[in-house]
Amino acid sequence: MSITATSVELKRCPLFIDGQPLLSGGPDDIQYNPATGEPVARIPRTTPEEISAAVAAAQKAFPSWRKTPIIQRCKVLFKYRELLQASAAELIALITEENGKTRDEARGSLERGIENVEFACGAPTLMMGDTVDQVGSGVDGWSTRIPIGVCAGITPFNFPLMVPLWMFPVAIACGNTFVLKPSDKVARTAVRLVELAHAAGLPAGVLNLVHGAKSTVDALLTDSRVKAVSFVGSSAVARYIYQTASNQGKRVQALGGAKNHSVVLPDAELKSAVAAVMGSSFGCAGERCLATSVVVAVGEAADPLVKELVRAADKLSVGAGSEAKTQMGPVISEESKKRILSYIELGEKEGATLARDGRNDAITRDQGYFLGPTIFDNVNPNSRIAKDEIFGPVLSVIRVKTLKEALAVIDNSEYGNAASIFTRSGHAAREFTQSVGAGMVGINVGVPAPVAFFSFTGWKNSFFGDLHALGKDSVHFYTEQRVVTCRWPD
Ligand code: NAD
Repeated sequence: MSITATSVELKRCPLFIDGQPLLSGGPDDIQYNPATGEPVARIPRTTPEEISAAVAAAQKAFPSWRKTPIIQRCKVLFKYRELLQASAAELIALITEENGKTRDEARGSLERGIENVEFACGAPTLMMGDTVDQVGSGVDGWSTRIPIGVCAGITPFNFPLMVPLWMFPVAIACGNTFVLKPSDKVARTAVRLVELAHAAGLPAGVLNLVHGAKSTVDALLTDSRVKAVSFVGSSAVARYIYQTASNQGKRVQALGGAKNHSVVLPDAELKSAVAAVMGSSFGCAGERCLATSVVVAVGEAADPLVKELVRAADKLSVGAGSEAKTQMGPVISEESKKRILSYIELGEKEGATLARDGRNDAITRDQGYFLGPTIFDNVNPNSRIAKDEIFGPVLSVIRVKTLKEALAVIDNSEYGNAASIFTRSGHAAREFTQSVGAGMVGINVGVPAPVAFFSFTGWKNSFFGDLHALGKDSVHFYTEQRVVTCRWPD
């Protein structure tokens, strides 16, 4: 099947099956550094036999891992947290090289990822059930949460470290075993995550790693030994994952794409609103599922807002994430860059005003996949640039007269991940929070990312399933509930 990885072939990403790094027998895809366009690694497409072996290893490890005392399981995670922190510099450099993020963005995503490990360390409390004495005469009742078995996680390119850490730490803390399939564009960070988990003392087979794309995912979705599937990626694939895996009787949570709105009211504090929108729209080169990609400017907020956004975008330093001065890195691939450029052309055809054209920035002609920040004004709410997920540094400004109109624009979106409002009015903020058609809401906050102990609550086409990722939902997702009714004879 596979041969053991050797240091001579470092650049070929290993799989991890039953605690062993292995070189796949499958063909390779080439991974490129988005800041230089240079090839940096070979990512194998895991063969069907290897995928089956990874699931078999997870299945074999499950009985003893679920019986390992929960405190013992959590101790491995405490050690894991320590190793992640000790490896911060290396992980940040790796995320930057693979994904293109700036070092600060990579560091932020590492910190958020570690918070998920910390959350998972609370599993003994999180898994506690309820007890009621004397539910009948001499009868007691109680509930417990038990792990479900082999879980699979499929992750996107945009957060190489944080999104895998949304999944497997809590799954394994709850006593499950796991097969991770990261994006083939950023698979080396996942390899380090798995290596460090083993260095922390995770027993063989509890966490396995496979690579590839659709065929690898399909093999996991149709394997009857896999009991639950967590997915994060684009909506079309999320819907497919949800339908395919739930048809197979699996538990599924599938987080999809987004088109997030920031509403700016005339009474907003302009300077901080501009800073927050800039960070949200152009941070991570717009490749963030909580990115603001549409600003809905209400009334007289619009003119000064657009002027200040353009001014701030002109000053944004675009370049390789590894350079200290860089504020925005490249997009992930040549293909992504072409797609984003085609949306800019479409926006012009749709009649929007190009207030800032990122195509004119000199760096756009560099070897890497760079694009300057682009801002469209006077965007028609029904145009495609207003509705499609572009997933790049392109911001659309829609002008409306009232908050009610702004809420209608958001309601009209097929996505429902996040929405923010910028205002000094508590009344307007409350009205927005109560009525807006999105699952994560920011008030004077540009990226309303829930911290690890809340769930990541996308709505509409941004989420397919019932139990969300992170927070209490994640513990419920990775466990079955059992209720015991007990009578002891005299
Ligand atoms: P993607 O959907 O292309 O890929 C996600 C994963 O699915 C990858 O592991 C990929 O290999 C696999 N995959 C791709 N095509 C597949 C197919 N046809 N069948 C089965 N598996 C397939 O997403 P991406 O480009 O890697 O990531 C960007 C997307 O992820 C954006 O839409 C973004 O909004 C979304 N995202 C959402 C969240 C969220 O919390 N809702 C978080 C991060 C990213």
